[in-house]
Amino acid sequence: MSFFDFHTHDPKTPPGQGIVCLPRRILLHPEEFRPHPDGLYAAGIHPWWTSDSDFSLPLYLSRLHNLLLSHPQIVQIGECGFDRCRGARIEVQQQVFEAQVKLSETFSRPMTLHIVRSFDLILAARKHLRPTQIWTIHGFRGRPALAQQLLDAGFHLSFGQHRHPQSYAITPPTRRQQETDSNPEEEQV
Ligand SMILES: [Zn+2]
Repeated sequence: MSFFDFHTHDPKTPPGQGIVCLPRRILLHPEEFRPHPDGLYAAGIHPWWTSDSDFSLPLYLSRLHNLLLSHPQIVQIGECGFDRCRGARIEVQQQVFEAQVKLSETFSRPMTLHIVRSFDLILAARKHLRPTQIWTIHGFRGRPALAQQLLDAGFHLSFGQHRHPQSYAITPPTRRQQETDSNPEEEQV
């Protein structure tokens, strides 16, 4: 791979060559997290997890808080966001998201966003919450008009294999990332 992998779930990513998104297992069992000293990681509460029968926002938030306190190698909060096709109802997802925005601002960690059929919500959230940290939409596949709308609103965009070439082209290189979103253990996210 010849680019920095902005978003991957592959724990075998060579340290420093990408940002490895930690699975739910690590939030539930943080003692299992053994970061490589040169590794880069993302930790967050995925919107899909919000419909788990044992989901608990206070528990997940306190675990996330402690992970951020303990590990400077966790350089992003993510993936988090909104998904109208999966997860708890949107009001719950919004509550979970806003709590993570607070952590992002407190710990000065940018956010990596999973947004499915809810660009209206993320645009409204950014306008309403006025974050100082960078918010990057990961796996962006949208058309150029949507890309432009997001860029105008201050977002960064990360592109995987299924990118729209024109959307990629109009995104300034300083606000553009590339990713594999590789996930060798598909169900664990
Ligand atoms: Zn992902």
